[in-house]
Amino acid sequence: TNPKKVCIVGSGNWGSAIAKIVGNNAAQLKNLDDRVTMYVYEEIVDGKKLTEIINETHENVKYLPGHKLPPNVVAVPDVVEAAKDADILIFVVPHQFIRTLCSTLLGKIKPNAIALSLIKGFDRAEGGGIDLISHIITRHLQIPCSVLMGANLAGEVADEKFCETTIGCKDILAGPLLRDVIQTSYFRVVVVDDEDTVEVCGALKNIVACGAGFVDGLGLGDNTKAAVIRLGLMEMVKFVDVFYPGGKLSTFFESCGVADLITTCYGGRNRKVSEAFVKTGKSIKELEDEMLNGQKLQGPYTAEEVNYMLKNKGMEDKFPLFTAIHKICTGLLKPSDFIDCIRNHPEHM
Ligand code: NAD
Ligand code: 13P
Ligand code: CA
Repeated sequence: TNPKKVCIVGSGNWGSAIAKIVGNNAAQLKNLDDRVTMYVYEEIVDGKKLTEIINETHENVKYLPGHKLPPNVVAVPDVVEAAKDADILIFVVPHQFIRTLCSTLLGKIKPNAIALSLIKGFDRAEGGGIDLISHIITRHLQIPCSVLMGANLAGEVADEKFCETTIGCKDILAGPLLRDVIQTSYFRVVVVDDEDTVEVCGALKNIVACGAGFVDGLGLGDNTKAAVIRLGLMEMVKFVDVFYPGGKLSTFFESCGVADLITTCYGGRNRKVSEAFVKTGKSIKELEDEMLNGQKLQGPYTAEEVNYMLKNKGMEDKFPLFTAIHKICTGLLKPSDFIDCIRNHPEHM
């Protein structure tokens, strides 16, 4: 059989870090084509096209500066061109862009391609609910979509510091294939079949990370932060229980669960910007633009999407931490109100 072709749809901070891994694996493994395409949303950096910079210097100087990409990773500004021959599509864009990308790709990809989503977030669904990003990919493109989520701050992965990740995949043939595309000696993969729980964990922990940032901004200390992380974890468990029944508690003990929650609440962008939000009084949007150089926050949007559903279902009070974080991000509550919102958490009753 012909070696499989891989396309990475996205080239931000995480997209570029994963491109380094996938590019190296594709070069080494016989069952993967050496050439890996990477869709790059084109922009001009220092007077030059980012795709040209990447293809000439093998470095994404804007989103992952200081790290070389393998030369077999080719930056392509047209997503259809990048994806059309791929057998494996790795989706890694900020979640707000996935719908447009799917409409562009509709009918333009191989019908038997498989997808892996690294995207942490939800989308709004018709009728007042939310959709998982992997389900959007499957529904729009008619291909199966597994997920990869874990305690994986992109810079540390690019530095090749040891960590773990979780692939959620029900297909017993696709699971090992996807693991081989991704796994290295420093990036260890565990495959579980509980796909939806893996993805929900990856999305929800970004909301909790905003809460951890508020605690840091308010100067409240380690015990308070640990309480916010724990209550956040309990709301994550409850969320899966209520909206994605059948999920396994054991999945929360994988890298996608407790480990990602911890790393994001200490080292992530959502935490960092949320701390600055409390300290400066500027809006989240302003701070995102000011502090992240084009990188995108997922937590505040995810809090909004989750709140849209909880509100519609009359369940805001069952998830007081998620609800308070949304209200603080949008200015409906002050950061200093945060702790009062979780003092009488259902967990304490
Ligand atoms: P990022 O935050 O670096 O976002 C910037 C990317 O968005 C750039 O590639 C930019 O070109 C692109 N972009 C901007 N406007 C666009 C548009 N209109 N259409 C399409 N693309 C556009 O991205 P990231 O860090 O690679 O994150 C992607 C996903 O991976 C997110 O869901 C994130 O939660 C998740 N993730 C990130 C990390 C991390 O440490 N960065 C780790 C694990 C998971
Ligand atoms: P931030 O988006 O908050 O940086 O989190 C990155 C992440 O998902 C680490 O696993
Ligand atoms: Ca190869």
